Amino acid sequence: MSLKCLYFSVLRISRKMLIAQILLLICIVCYLTAKPLIKDTNCPAQDPAVINFQKYLRIDTSRSENLYKAVNLLQSLATDIGLEFAVYEPAGKPICVLTWPGTESSLPSIMLNSHVDVVEADGVGWMYPPYAAHIDEHCNIYARGAQDSKDLGIQYIEAIRRLKNQNVTLQRTIHVTYMPDEEIGGFQGMREFLKMKKFKELNVGFVLDEGLGSQSDENLYVTYQDKRAWSMKFTVEGIGGHGSFMPKDVAVTKLNRLLNVMIDYRTSLEEAMKSVNQLHSGPYTAMNINMINGGYAPNVIPSSFSLVADMRLATTANATEMLSLAKSWAEYAGNGTKLEFLRREMDALATPVDNSNPYWITLRDTVYDLGFNVTPIVLPATSDSLFVRNYGIPAFGFAPLFNTVQRIHNTNEYINVHVFMRGIEVYEVLIKNLGNLASVINFK
Ligand SMILES: [Zn+2]
Repeated sequence: MSLKCLYFSVLRISRKMLIAQILLLICIVCYLTAKPLIKDTNCPAQDPAVINFQKYLRIDTSRSENLYKAVNLLQSLATDIGLEFAVYEPAGKPICVLTWPGTESSLPSIMLNSHVDVVEADGVGWMYPPYAAHIDEHCNIYARGAQDSKDLGIQYIEAIRRLKNQNVTLQRTIHVTYMPDEEIGGFQGMREFLKMKKFKELNVGFVLDEGLGSQSDENLYVTYQDKRAWSMKFTVEGIGGHGSFMPKDVAVTKLNRLLNVMIDYRTSLEEAMKSVNQLHSGPYTAMNINMINGGYAPNVIPSSFSLVADMRLATTANATEMLSLAKSWAEYAGNGTKLEFLRREMDALATPVDNSNPYWITLRDTVYDLGFNVTPIVLPATSDSLFVRNYGIPAFGFAPLFNTVQRIHNTNEYINVHVFMRGIEVYEVLIKNLGNLASVINFK
């Protein structure tokens, strides 16, 4: 090899090496600056609490025939921890009550409520099957019910398990309750349970129920009042017949009038909504027209149409005035328009969130000591707590669900396992503090 050749081959090697080094450097920079697509190697996926949670999530409780599978699971968990277990069926569906007796039976008990049922999920649009409770590489469990409210149902039990393992005893009795039908109104669950003699015997002084999650990792929400749910069905009637005729008084004309007047009202509600802080839904009424039915063939004029509207009343709305308004819409639509209520809650009492309420002080201070602020808000929807507060028992909706995108009733409902486990720690302290709140006998 000549000197000239040697010179050029060395130059070629070093140029190749230089390119290789640059590529390596680019790879290192990409790796270090990439979003954490890296596997969560600290995921406590094998923790017994997580495994119990997965067992619960894998029962498709959107189907009422599966409710008893959940009852069996809850019974086995209760037996495992040493809690008393009872099932009541005031209206044909099972309500489970797990009881941890306190040392002072004269004190009012604490009730920790959640619901077993979930809304349906057909799997369309889901990354994983909705009843598989799959844990992905980021330590997120995907399942229907993961945020609403099977997370709470297991967190309560696992928190009590930890307290019992530490030989903690509480002054107050704790009842962990599981309702069967919150998603369809609670008419065979909480509403009927409260009428039972057995419920009175539980001597409940305060209820914690499902609440709203938070995207923040330092602020949680407490709901102290629900909005009143009104579900209104209007039926308009007119002359039917062959599709080739043009009768004057057809049902669709009345439907059109009804839609116009209701949509005008809805537009005014949108304006009212814009004027308030979006976090606080109490000051405005919400309304949506969610179902319109009528007609069965392209060449037949239907003799009736029905329309269903879902309304959530502002906390300050006057129910009597609202009723007159709905009746006026039916009149405006035209003769023969019927109005019936599928649901009409006239009252939705609030639980105080001030220093007069020792349960509020305990909740707020406990959660604060654990590193979270709590913001009291009105629940934009309606939950089982509405029945509890109207019965005269103070109740808060609460969920230690932080740093979580809300996916309730949506596809890809999930909870991060670390968030789930932290929630158990939150309840561990909260249950202990509420259970030892000895000074309050009769706060209503
Ligand atoms: Zn729920």
